[in-house]
Amino acid sequence: MGTHDLGDYSRCMDERYAVLDDAAGLARGYLDSLPSRRVGPSADLEELRSRLRRALTDGGEDPRSVIADLARDVEPGLVASAGPRYFGFVIGGTLPVALAADWLTSAWDQNAGGYVAAPAVSIAEEVAAGWVCELLGLPAGCGVGFVTGCQMAHFTCLAAARHAVLRDAGWDVEARGLQGAPELVVFAGEQVHVTVTVACRMLGIDTERIRSVPADGQGRMRADELERALRGHDGPAIVCAQAGEVNTGAFDPLADVVAACRERGAWCHVDGAFGLWAAVSPTRRPLLAGFERADSWATDGHKWLNVPYDCGIAVVADRSAHRAAMTSTSAYIPEHDDDVPWGLDWTPELSRRARGIPLYAAVRSLGRRGLADMVDRCCDLAARIADRLAEADGVEVLNDVVLNQVLVRFGGDDGVTTAVIDRVQAQGTCWLSGSTFRGQAVVRISVVGWQTTPADIDRSADAILAALAAERAARAAR
Ligand SMILES: *Cc1c(COP(=O)(O)O)cnc(C)c1O
Repeated sequence: MGTHDLGDYSRCMDERYAVLDDAAGLARGYLDSLPSRRVGPSADLEELRSRLRRALTDGGEDPRSVIADLARDVEPGLVASAGPRYFGFVIGGTLPVALAADWLTSAWDQNAGGYVAAPAVSIAEEVAAGWVCELLGLPAGCGVGFVTGCQMAHFTCLAAARHAVLRDAGWDVEARGLQGAPELVVFAGEQVHVTVTVACRMLGIDTERIRSVPADGQGRMRADELERALRGHDGPAIVCAQAGEVNTGAFDPLADVVAACRERGAWCHVDGAFGLWAAVSPTRRPLLAGFERADSWATDGHKWLNVPYDCGIAVVADRSAHRAAMTSTSAYIPEHDDDVPWGLDWTPELSRRARGIPLYAAVRSLGRRGLADMVDRCCDLAARIADRLAEADGVEVLNDVVLNQVLVRFGGDDGVTTAVIDRVQAQGTCWLSGSTFRGQAVVRISVVGWQTTPADIDRSADAILAALAAERAARAAR
């Protein structure tokens, strides 16, 4: 072994297969461990720093030992979020077919920014984009951009929105920016996701220009309040609605929201990071009624579609607004029509990985029914854990479980609720995250992983209830 010599080409060639085989074996070992390993990490920050911090060498190190060390060093700090009992935030796993396609995407190493640099993957992404619109029931011919996540999908969609509403007001925002522009206002529900606010900020739409529209007890924007707010403003306007509120999973009344936008000539954007996928399920699709008449939609592949990070999707009905807001032109970028897929026309990035490829593979392998089953299964499992927990004394489920999100509170008390979360994480059977809802501490359970089974839900419910019992016993003994 020893350091590798870049001059020795044939040795590099031999080694590269050895190191790839090593990585495949290590990945397999990790994936095999997912159903049984402790869900949270076991090492703390200090330990992880001391494991991973190495002195940089002058001569480099042998690739196989770098990979072996790396896998060993990160092991105690990995979170089994790809496994079956991780319910924190809204984090999906990775379907094997999507992981396999992701490996190939890295091996091919195509720059999906431009058709000339990456013809085959550009076409595969074009096909995947068409499938996404077809599956969700969005209009054919939308602009679609594969971005890093829903945050950047909002940025992309809202850049198109900013272009269109200012164009309609006679202002070219790409040429003139926002200084001196007609005042542009964004209306968003009270429970708007922070990524919408950040996207606005990056687009020069400051927080004072974001008007908060009151929501109901489940976090749904009230359509009557939106109508009233829109009546009070007569410049360019963008409305940000939600399909799947991050705590409750609730849907804004999208048909009424879209109607209010149409009436007023406002752009309607939908944040459907996970909730948009309810559209693939015949039983859940009614939650989205009317959403297909909006102007733009932001969603994630890396949450409910169970493709690896990173994969967000920006969809815009007005292709020309989308392209005008995103395209890059330069002497070295060949002129091309809309008909030839150039990634850089639809995303903020110039160079990027072909992140639509894992999505292509996942969608093709699941088919319409497989995808609907995955969504329905997660919703059913969320209802199952809600029922299991609600049966117990001192447990309150605070939301209407309409999708995959469950909000729970223990003992009617913030301290008990957060202590139960800590005990559950320390014990390791499952992982939960906390949040606040209507000013109270809550546990937020999100079921989006393809691997979760009813048995995982039952084991997790038992672990959570045992943590509650232990917390109560500890309090009684004080
Ligand atoms: C997760 C989430 C986002 C942000 O998505 P990223 O992929 O993390 O950028 C936005 N909105 C909602 C409702 C979400 O759940």
